[in-house]
Amino acid sequence: MIVVMKISATKEDLDNVCKRAEELGFTPHVIYGKERNVVGLVGITGNREEAFMIENYSGVDKVVPISKPYKLASREVKQENSVIDVNGVKFGARDISVIAGPCSVESERQIIMVAEHVKVAGAKMLRGGAFKPRTSPYAFQGLGEEGLKLLAKAREITGLPIVTEVVNPVDVDLVYKYTDMFQVGARNIQNFALLTMLGQAKKPVLLKRGMSTTIDEFLMATEYILSEGNRDVVLCERGIRTFETSTRNTLDISAIPVVKSKSHLPIIVDPSHAAGHWGYVSALSRAAIACGADGLIIEVHPEPEKAMSDGSQSLNPTQFISLMGEIRAIAIAVGRYM
Ligand code: PEP
Ligand code: MN
Repeated sequence: MIVVMKISATKEDLDNVCKRAEELGFTPHVIYGKERNVVGLVGITGNREEAFMIENYSGVDKVVPISKPYKLASREVKQENSVIDVNGVKFGARDISVIAGPCSVESERQIIMVAEHVKVAGAKMLRGGAFKPRTSPYAFQGLGEEGLKLLAKAREITGLPIVTEVVNPVDVDLVYKYTDMFQVGARNIQNFALLTMLGQAKKPVLLKRGMSTTIDEFLMATEYILSEGNRDVVLCERGIRTFETSTRNTLDISAIPVVKSKSHLPIIVDPSHAAGHWGYVSALSRAAIACGADGLIIEVHPEPEKAMSDGSQSLNPTQFISLMGEIRAIAIAVGRYM
């Protein structure tokens, strides 16, 4: 349930509501809005009947039950779009923010080359996996901490903030030391121990939809992070598994408006893992921006044919430059800018 405060409510009114919520066994989460502030009452042990009496407190407009199973992620709690700031790069504002880089960090030369290329082409952040969740245990698993160090070096040279995946909860502290934003991969969307740890970590999270998760399950996974106190979550649609085999996954373009109607959080699109083939990446990117996505995450490699993972879906630097030109035109057409 949520407590909607009046516009005239004072800080003391807000504090009193939070105090009462705690007494009743809830964890209060204050959501500051442009129009009004609300307090989300979260927790399974809270006394719901008594909580309705908070309506009589000074500065309180009303107490409303939340109909959705996800609470803090829901539009019912916050009507305006959330803008997530990753060291100056914004997701959910008017800007379209593009993240680009290789699937895996392979060498210093590779990551620095890509970082410089994608920066010149207009990317706002650098991606690169140091811990790779591979389908086969015999496939390249990433460079680990060495990969994180190389990412940090590429950031130092280019100024691009970085996003990298954390696969195992035991590596959260290590990845925290290097990254600007954690990535949770599709395979870990329901790793609740990992999500809870990231909810306690004080850095933004890029949460990728699982290949077989419904949008409601996706938002419930988000709730694990938000309910721990970390509000900085950017969602990512990366394709879901269907009967179609011509592409690696099927980009669920409808997830964009559906997520936007259900949640205030930004959503970006990963056309690379959806398509599985570089030739489809540009068309899917244009569709995503036209459909209202807040950004893209694109795999780019200096020599895709030599990539240690996901080469077939990676763009080379020249192809990435063309893609940026194409999506800029779409962004302008739908009232966004890059
Ligand atoms: C990746 O970003 O390289 C990746 C493994 O993505 P996903 O988790 O979406 O498969
Ligand atoms: Mn990949």
